[in-house]
Amino acid sequence: MAQDTEAQLPRNPTRSVQIGTVAIGHDHPIVVQGMCATKTADVDATVAQVEQLARAGAGVVRIAVDTHRDCQALAEIRQRTEANLAVDLQENYRLAADVAPLVEKVRYNPGHLFHHERRRTWQDKVRFLVEVAGQHGCAIRVGVNCGSVDPAKREKYAEGDSTGPMLESALDHCELLDRLDFTRYCVSLKDSDPQQVIEVNRLFVLERPDVPLHLGVTEAGMPPEGIVKSRIAMEHLLRRGIGDTLRVSLTVPVAEKHVEIEAGQRIIDDVAAGRFHDDDRESIAKGLNIISCPSCSRVENETFIDLARQVREATRYAAEHALTIAVMGCRVNGPGETDDADLGLWCGPKFVNLKCRGRTLGAFSYEEILPRMKEELDRLIAGGE
Ligand code: SF4
Repeated sequence: MAQDTEAQLPRNPTRSVQIGTVAIGHDHPIVVQGMCATKTADVDATVAQVEQLARAGAGVVRIAVDTHRDCQALAEIRQRTEANLAVDLQENYRLAADVAPLVEKVRYNPGHLFHHERRRTWQDKVRFLVEVAGQHGCAIRVGVNCGSVDPAKREKYAEGDSTGPMLESALDHCELLDRLDFTRYCVSLKDSDPQQVIEVNRLFVLERPDVPLHLGVTEAGMPPEGIVKSRIAMEHLLRRGIGDTLRVSLTVPVAEKHVEIEAGQRIIDDVAAGRFHDDDRESIAKGLNIISCPSCSRVENETFIDLARQVREATRYAAEHALTIAVMGCRVNGPGETDDADLGLWCGPKFVNLKCRGRTLGAFSYEEILPRMKEELDRLIAGGE
Protein backbone atom coordinates (compact mmCIF):
# COMPACT_ATOMS: atom_id res chain seq x y z
CA MET A 1 0.00 0.00 0.00
CA ALA A 2 1.37 3.38 -0.98
CA GLN A 3 0.67 5.02 2.38
CA ASP A 4 3.16 7.87 1.92
CA THR A 5 1.52 8.93 -1.31
CA GLU A 6 -1.88 8.27 0.21
CA ALA A 7 -1.14 10.76 2.96
CA GLN A 8 -1.57 13.44 0.29
CA LEU A 9 -5.19 12.54 -0.33
CA PRO A 10 -7.70 15.05 0.99
CA ARG A 11 -9.97 13.43 3.59
CA ASN A 12 -13.29 14.42 5.08
CA PRO A 13 -13.31 14.70 8.89
CA THR A 14 -14.91 11.30 9.46
CA ARG A 15 -14.64 9.66 12.85
CA SER A 16 -12.62 6.50 13.48
CA VAL A 17 -14.36 3.14 13.36
CA GLN A 18 -12.37 0.11 14.46
CA ILE A 19 -12.91 -3.13 12.50
CA GLY A 20 -10.77 -5.74 14.20
CA THR A 21 -7.13 -4.84 13.53
CA VAL A 22 -7.88 -2.05 11.06
CA ALA A 23 -9.58 1.28 11.54
CA ILE A 24 -11.37 3.45 9.01
CA GLY A 25 -11.90 7.18 9.16
CA HIS A 26 -9.94 10.27 8.25
CA ASP A 27 -7.01 9.46 10.54
CA HIS A 28 -6.37 6.15 8.77
CA PRO A 29 -5.38 4.92 5.32
CA ILE A 30 -8.27 3.97 3.03
CA VAL A 31 -9.02 0.28 3.51
CA VAL A 32 -9.72 -1.98 0.53
CA GLN A 33 -12.28 -4.71 1.18
CA GLY A 34 -13.18 -7.95 -0.56
CA MET A 35 -15.94 -10.53 -0.47
CA CYS A 36 -15.89 -14.29 -0.79
CA ALA A 37 -17.73 -15.80 -3.75
CA THR A 38 -17.41 -19.36 -2.44
CA LYS A 39 -20.23 -21.26 -0.76
CA THR A 40 -19.90 -20.31 2.91
CA ALA A 41 -20.69 -23.88 3.95
CA ASP A 42 -17.64 -25.06 1.96
CA VAL A 43 -15.19 -24.22 4.73
CA ASP A 44 -11.99 -25.19 2.89
CA ALA A 45 -12.85 -23.17 -0.19
CA THR A 46 -13.96 -20.17 1.87
CA VAL A 47 -10.86 -20.16 4.07
CA ALA A 48 -8.73 -20.32 0.90
CA GLN A 49 -10.71 -17.41 -0.56
CA VAL A 50 -10.38 -15.32 2.62
CA GLU A 51 -6.61 -15.90 2.60
CA GLN A 52 -6.35 -15.12 -1.11
CA LEU A 53 -8.08 -11.77 -0.57
CA ALA A 54 -6.15 -10.94 2.60
CA ARG A 55 -2.83 -11.73 0.86
CA ALA A 56 -3.82 -9.40 -1.98
CA GLY A 57 -4.26 -6.61 0.60
CA ALA A 58 -7.89 -6.75 1.73
CA GLY A 59 -8.17 -5.18 5.18
CA VAL A 60 -11.60 -6.75 5.72
CA VAL A 61 -13.13 -9.78 3.99
CA ARG A 62 -16.90 -10.23 3.84
CA ILE A 63 -18.74 -13.52 3.91
CA ALA A 64 -22.45 -14.07 3.22
CA VAL A 65 -24.38 -15.90 5.93
CA ASP A 66 -27.98 -16.92 5.27
CA THR A 67 -28.59 -20.05 7.34
CA HIS A 68 -27.64 -21.77 10.59
CA ARG A 69 -25.48 -24.10 8.52
CA ASP A 70 -23.56 -21.06 7.26
CA CYS A 71 -23.16 -19.93 10.90
CA GLN A 72 -21.63 -23.29 11.82
CA ALA A 73 -19.28 -23.03 8.84
CA LEU A 74 -18.36 -19.48 9.89
CA ALA A 75 -17.33 -20.75 13.33
CA GLU A 76 -14.87 -23.14 11.64
CA ILE A 77 -13.67 -20.47 9.23
CA ARG A 78 -13.03 -18.16 12.20
CA GLN A 79 -10.76 -20.80 13.75
CA ARG A 80 -8.69 -20.97 10.60
CA THR A 81 -8.03 -17.34 9.72
CA GLU A 82 -6.90 -14.17 11.44
CA ALA A 83 -8.26 -11.93 8.70
CA ASN A 84 -10.78 -9.29 9.74
CA LEU A 85 -14.14 -10.76 8.81
CA ALA A 86 -17.38 -9.01 8.03
CA VAL A 87 -20.64 -10.81 7.60
CA ASP A 88 -23.32 -9.96 5.09
CA LEU A 89 -26.85 -10.45 6.44
CA GLN A 90 -29.97 -10.54 4.30
CA GLU A 91 -33.54 -10.83 5.59
CA ASN A 92 -32.71 -13.06 8.53
CA TYR A 93 -31.31 -10.32 10.74
CA ARG A 94 -31.57 -12.57 13.84
CA LEU A 95 -28.56 -14.55 12.62
CA ALA A 96 -26.53 -11.57 13.83
CA ALA A 97 -26.68 -13.04 17.35
CA ASP A 98 -24.85 -16.14 16.13
CA VAL A 99 -22.33 -14.44 13.88
CA ALA A 100 -21.40 -11.36 15.92
CA PRO A 101 -19.12 -13.31 18.30
CA LEU A 102 -17.21 -14.57 15.25
CA VAL A 103 -16.64 -11.46 13.16
CA GLU A 104 -15.42 -7.89 13.33
CA LYS A 105 -18.23 -6.28 11.37
CA VAL A 106 -21.86 -6.91 10.48
CA ARG A 107 -23.37 -5.45 7.33
CA TYR A 108 -27.11 -5.05 7.09
CA ASN A 109 -29.18 -3.63 4.26
CA PRO A 110 -32.04 -1.36 5.43
CA GLY A 111 -34.08 -2.58 2.45
CA HIS A 112 -33.93 -6.15 3.76
CA LEU A 113 -35.31 -5.45 7.22
CA PHE A 114 -38.90 -5.59 6.04
CA HIS A 115 -39.48 -9.06 4.71
CA HIS A 116 -38.91 -11.04 7.88
CA GLU A 117 -41.10 -10.70 11.01
CA ARG A 118 -43.22 -8.06 9.33
CA ARG A 119 -44.96 -7.01 12.54
CA ARG A 120 -41.73 -5.91 14.08
CA THR A 121 -40.58 -2.43 13.08
CA TRP A 122 -37.25 -1.83 11.37
CA GLN A 123 -36.28 0.33 14.35
CA ASP A 124 -36.74 -2.67 16.63
CA LYS A 125 -34.64 -4.84 14.37
CA VAL A 126 -31.85 -2.26 14.30
CA ARG A 127 -32.00 -2.09 18.12
CA PHE A 128 -31.44 -5.84 18.18
CA LEU A 129 -28.49 -5.57 15.76
CA VAL A 130 -26.93 -2.78 17.81
CA GLU A 131 -27.30 -4.81 20.98
CA VAL A 132 -25.49 -7.85 19.61
CA ALA A 133 -22.85 -5.79 17.79
CA GLY A 134 -22.20 -3.82 20.99
CA GLN A 135 -21.91 -6.97 23.10
CA HIS A 136 -19.27 -8.44 20.80
CA GLY A 137 -17.32 -5.34 19.80
CA CYS A 138 -18.44 -5.46 16.18
CA ALA A 139 -18.69 -2.56 13.80
CA ILE A 140 -21.80 -2.19 11.66
CA ARG A 141 -22.16 -1.15 8.05
CA VAL A 142 -25.49 0.27 6.96
CA GLY A 143 -25.35 -0.95 3.37
CA VAL A 144 -27.93 0.87 1.25
CA ASN A 145 -28.32 -0.52 -2.23
CA CYS A 146 -30.29 0.94 -5.17
CA GLY A 147 -31.89 -2.38 -6.07
CA SER A 148 -33.26 -3.20 -2.63
CA VAL A 149 -34.24 0.08 -1.09
CA ASP A 150 -36.70 0.35 1.79
CA PRO A 151 -40.15 0.05 0.07
CA ALA A 152 -41.72 2.70 2.32
CA LYS A 153 -39.05 5.18 1.24
CA ARG A 154 -39.37 4.29 -2.42
CA GLU A 155 -43.09 5.09 -2.37
CA LYS A 156 -42.40 8.64 -1.21
CA TYR A 157 -40.35 9.57 -4.25
CA ALA A 158 -41.03 9.87 -7.97
CA GLU A 159 -40.53 6.76 -10.07
CA GLY A 160 -36.99 6.71 -11.35
CA ASP A 161 -35.61 8.75 -8.43
CA SER A 162 -33.21 6.32 -6.81
CA THR A 163 -31.18 8.94 -4.96
CA GLY A 164 -33.98 10.30 -2.73
CA PRO A 165 -35.02 6.99 -1.12
CA MET A 166 -31.43 5.82 -0.68
CA LEU A 167 -30.36 9.03 0.97
CA GLU A 168 -33.37 9.23 3.28
CA SER A 169 -32.94 5.61 4.27
CA ALA A 170 -29.26 6.06 5.12
CA LEU A 171 -29.89 9.25 7.09
CA ASP A 172 -32.76 7.70 9.07
CA HIS A 173 -30.59 4.74 10.03
CA CYS A 174 -27.73 7.02 11.10
CA GLU A 175 -30.12 9.01 13.24
CA LEU A 176 -31.40 5.88 14.94
CA LEU A 177 -27.89 4.52 15.55
CA ASP A 178 -26.92 7.88 17.05
CA ARG A 179 -29.96 7.83 19.31
CA LEU A 180 -28.96 4.35 20.43
CA ASP A 181 -25.55 5.78 21.24
CA PHE A 182 -23.85 3.42 18.80
CA THR A 183 -21.06 5.18 16.91
CA ARG A 184 -19.08 2.26 15.57
CA TYR A 185 -20.71 2.31 12.17
CA CYS A 186 -20.14 3.30 8.57
CA VAL A 187 -22.48 3.70 5.63
CA SER A 188 -22.44 2.67 1.99
CA LEU A 189 -24.70 3.98 -0.77
CA LYS A 190 -24.26 1.82 -3.84
CA ASP A 191 -25.80 2.03 -7.27
CA SER A 192 -24.88 0.33 -10.54
CA ASP A 193 -24.59 3.74 -12.23
CA PRO A 194 -21.34 5.50 -11.25
CA GLN A 195 -22.95 8.94 -11.66
CA GLN A 196 -25.64 8.02 -9.14
CA VAL A 197 -22.99 6.75 -6.74
CA ILE A 198 -21.26 10.11 -7.00
CA GLU A 199 -24.46 12.05 -6.50
CA VAL A 200 -25.88 10.13 -3.57
CA ASN A 201 -22.55 10.02 -1.72
CA ARG A 202 -21.97 13.74 -2.20
CA LEU A 203 -25.44 14.52 -0.88
CA PHE A 204 -24.92 12.23 2.09
CA VAL A 205 -21.67 13.95 3.00
CA LEU A 206 -23.40 17.34 3.03
CA GLU A 207 -25.63 16.02 5.82
CA ARG A 208 -23.25 13.67 7.62
CA PRO A 209 -19.60 14.59 7.05
CA ASP A 210 -18.71 12.72 10.25
CA VAL A 211 -19.83 9.23 9.15
CA PRO A 212 -17.18 7.06 7.45
CA LEU A 213 -18.19 5.99 3.95
CA HIS A 214 -17.65 2.68 2.23
CA LEU A 215 -17.56 3.32 -1.54
CA GLY A 216 -18.65 0.93 -4.24
CA VAL A 217 -20.44 0.59 -7.57
CA THR A 218 -22.76 -2.35 -7.24
CA GLU A 219 -22.98 -4.86 -10.11
CA ALA A 220 -20.16 -3.05 -11.89
CA GLY A 221 -19.74 -6.17 -14.03
CA MET A 222 -16.77 -7.79 -15.72
CA PRO A 223 -13.35 -6.27 -16.16
CA PRO A 224 -12.33 -4.05 -17.81
CA GLU A 225 -15.70 -2.24 -17.85
CA GLY A 226 -16.37 -3.03 -14.17
CA ILE A 227 -13.08 -1.47 -13.13
CA VAL A 228 -13.71 1.57 -15.32
CA LYS A 229 -17.15 2.14 -13.76
CA SER A 230 -15.75 1.80 -10.23
CA ARG A 231 -12.90 4.12 -11.10
CA ILE A 232 -15.24 6.82 -12.43
CA ALA A 233 -17.16 6.97 -9.14
CA MET A 234 -14.27 6.42 -6.75
CA GLU A 235 -11.89 8.79 -8.50
CA HIS A 236 -14.44 11.58 -8.37
CA LEU A 237 -15.23 11.02 -4.69
CA LEU A 238 -11.76 10.23 -3.37
CA ARG A 239 -10.21 13.33 -4.90
CA ARG A 240 -12.81 15.35 -2.96
CA GLY A 241 -12.01 13.69 0.32
CA ILE A 242 -14.99 11.32 0.28
CA GLY A 243 -14.47 7.65 1.12
CA ASP A 244 -12.74 5.78 3.94
CA THR A 245 -12.98 2.23 2.66
CA LEU A 246 -13.99 0.73 -0.67
CA ARG A 247 -14.66 -2.39 -2.64
CA VAL A 248 -14.39 -2.89 -6.38
CA SER A 249 -17.06 -5.53 -7.16
CA LEU A 250 -16.24 -7.54 -10.26
CA THR A 251 -17.83 -10.50 -12.02
CA VAL A 252 -14.78 -12.79 -12.05
CA PRO A 253 -14.23 -16.46 -11.17
CA VAL A 254 -13.43 -17.37 -7.57
CA ALA A 255 -9.75 -17.94 -8.40
CA GLU A 256 -9.44 -14.39 -9.73
CA LYS A 257 -11.16 -12.52 -6.89
CA HIS A 258 -7.85 -10.96 -5.84
CA VAL A 259 -8.22 -8.75 -8.95
CA GLU A 260 -10.88 -6.77 -7.03
CA ILE A 261 -8.37 -5.89 -4.32
CA GLU A 262 -5.62 -4.98 -6.76
CA ALA A 263 -8.00 -2.78 -8.74
CA GLY A 264 -9.17 -1.00 -5.57
CA GLN A 265 -5.64 -0.31 -4.41
CA ARG A 266 -4.63 0.91 -7.86
CA ILE A 267 -7.50 3.42 -7.87
CA ILE A 268 -6.44 4.76 -4.46
CA ASP A 269 -2.79 4.99 -5.51
CA ASP A 270 -3.66 6.72 -8.79
CA VAL A 271 -5.85 9.32 -7.13
CA ALA A 272 -3.22 9.95 -4.46
CA ALA A 273 -0.58 10.42 -7.18
CA GLY A 274 -2.84 12.69 -9.25
CA ARG A 275 -3.29 10.18 -12.07
CA PHE A 276 -6.87 10.63 -13.27
CA HIS A 277 -8.76 8.94 -16.08
CA ASP A 278 -11.34 11.54 -17.02
CA ASP A 279 -11.82 10.02 -20.51
CA ASP A 280 -13.38 6.91 -18.99
CA ARG A 281 -16.60 8.74 -18.29
CA GLU A 282 -17.25 9.25 -22.01
CA SER A 283 -16.57 5.64 -22.93
CA ILE A 284 -19.03 4.27 -20.37
CA ALA A 285 -21.80 6.80 -20.90
CA LYS A 286 -22.58 5.59 -24.43
CA GLY A 287 -23.92 2.34 -25.85
CA LEU A 288 -24.89 -1.03 -24.44
CA ASN A 289 -24.40 -1.32 -20.70
CA ILE A 290 -24.03 -4.78 -19.18
CA ILE A 291 -24.24 -4.91 -15.42
CA SER A 292 -23.64 -8.12 -13.51
CA CYS A 293 -23.25 -8.99 -9.86
CA PRO A 294 -19.87 -9.97 -8.43
CA SER A 295 -21.30 -13.34 -7.29
CA CYS A 296 -21.20 -14.56 -3.71
CA SER A 297 -22.14 -17.57 -1.63
CA ARG A 298 -25.71 -17.21 -2.88
CA VAL A 299 -24.99 -18.02 -6.54
CA GLU A 300 -27.26 -20.92 -7.43
CA ASN A 301 -25.50 -22.28 -10.49
CA GLU A 302 -21.78 -21.99 -10.94
CA THR A 303 -22.12 -21.34 -14.64
CA PHE A 304 -23.27 -17.84 -13.72
CA ILE A 305 -19.88 -16.26 -14.48
CA ASP A 306 -19.78 -18.02 -17.87
CA LEU A 307 -23.32 -16.88 -18.55
CA ALA A 308 -22.36 -13.26 -17.86
CA ARG A 309 -19.44 -13.59 -20.28
CA GLN A 310 -21.63 -15.27 -22.90
CA VAL A 311 -24.16 -12.45 -22.63
CA ARG A 312 -21.39 -9.96 -23.27
CA GLU A 313 -20.12 -11.90 -26.31
CA ALA A 314 -23.57 -12.57 -27.73
CA THR A 315 -24.57 -8.90 -27.55
CA ARG A 316 -21.46 -7.29 -29.02
CA TYR A 317 -23.38 -6.60 -32.23
CA ALA A 318 -25.64 -4.26 -30.20
CA ALA A 319 -22.78 -2.21 -28.72
CA GLU A 320 -24.09 1.06 -30.17
CA HIS A 321 -27.51 0.81 -28.58
CA ALA A 322 -28.12 2.60 -25.29
CA LEU A 323 -29.74 -0.33 -23.48
CA THR A 324 -28.97 -2.00 -20.15
CA ILE A 325 -28.78 -5.74 -19.61
CA ALA A 326 -28.52 -6.96 -16.01
CA VAL A 327 -27.24 -10.45 -15.19
CA MET A 328 -27.58 -11.58 -11.56
CA GLY A 329 -26.42 -14.73 -9.81
CA CYS A 330 -29.35 -15.60 -7.56
CA ARG A 331 -33.07 -15.46 -6.88
CA VAL A 332 -32.59 -13.53 -3.62
CA ASN A 333 -31.49 -10.25 -5.11
CA GLY A 334 -31.96 -10.95 -8.82
CA PRO A 335 -35.61 -9.91 -9.17
CA GLY A 336 -35.10 -6.53 -7.45
CA GLU A 337 -31.72 -5.76 -8.93
CA THR A 338 -32.98 -6.23 -12.50
CA ASP A 339 -36.00 -3.94 -12.12
CA ASP A 340 -34.48 -0.94 -13.84
CA ALA A 341 -32.76 -2.80 -16.69
CA ASP A 342 -34.13 -3.13 -20.22
CA LEU A 343 -33.40 -6.85 -20.03
CA GLY A 344 -32.83 -8.67 -16.76
CA LEU A 345 -31.56 -12.22 -16.20
CA TRP A 346 -31.24 -13.91 -12.85
CA CYS A 347 -30.06 -17.41 -12.19
CA GLY A 348 -31.80 -20.27 -10.44
CA PRO A 349 -30.30 -23.73 -10.02
CA LYS A 350 -31.63 -25.03 -13.36
CA PHE A 351 -33.26 -22.05 -15.05
CA VAL A 352 -32.51 -18.46 -15.85
CA ASN A 353 -35.34 -16.00 -15.36
CA LEU A 354 -35.81 -13.35 -18.01
CA LYS A 355 -37.47 -9.99 -17.66
CA CYS A 356 -37.97 -7.14 -20.12
CA ARG A 357 -38.46 -3.65 -18.65
CA GLY A 358 -40.00 -5.01 -15.47
CA ARG A 359 -42.20 -7.61 -17.23
CA THR A 360 -41.34 -11.24 -16.42
CA LEU A 361 -41.08 -13.33 -19.58
CA GLY A 362 -40.46 -16.70 -17.94
CA ALA A 363 -37.71 -19.08 -16.87
CA PHE A 364 -35.51 -20.70 -19.52
CA SER A 365 -32.93 -23.45 -19.38
CA TYR A 366 -29.25 -22.48 -19.52
CA GLU A 367 -29.25 -23.71 -23.16
CA GLU A 368 -32.30 -21.71 -24.16
CA ILE A 369 -31.62 -18.41 -22.46
CA LEU A 370 -29.17 -16.76 -24.87
CA PRO A 371 -31.25 -17.12 -28.06
CA ARG A 372 -34.35 -16.05 -26.11
CA MET A 373 -32.59 -13.02 -24.72
CA LYS A 374 -31.32 -12.07 -28.18
CA GLU A 375 -34.88 -12.24 -29.56
CA GLU A 376 -35.92 -9.70 -26.94
CA LEU A 377 -32.87 -7.55 -27.55
CA ASP A 378 -33.60 -7.44 -31.29
CA ARG A 379 -37.17 -6.49 -30.55
CA LEU A 380 -36.04 -3.60 -28.36
CA ILE A 381 -33.52 -2.46 -30.96
CA ALA A 382 -36.29 -2.48 -33.55
CA GLY A 383 -38.24 -0.10 -31.31
CA GLY A 384 -40.45 -2.56 -29.41
CA GLU A 385 -41.55 -1.97 -25.85
S1 SF4 B 1 -27.15 -10.95 -6.85
FE1 SF4 B 1 -27.16 -12.74 -5.49
S2 SF4 B 1 -25.37 -13.95 -6.12
FE2 SF4 B 1 -25.09 -11.91 -6.95
S3 SF4 B 1 -23.84 -10.86 -5.40
FE3 SF4 B 1 -26.01 -10.35 -5.00
S4 SF4 B 1 -26.66 -11.87 -3.47
FE4 SF4 B 1 -24.73 -12.64 -4.41
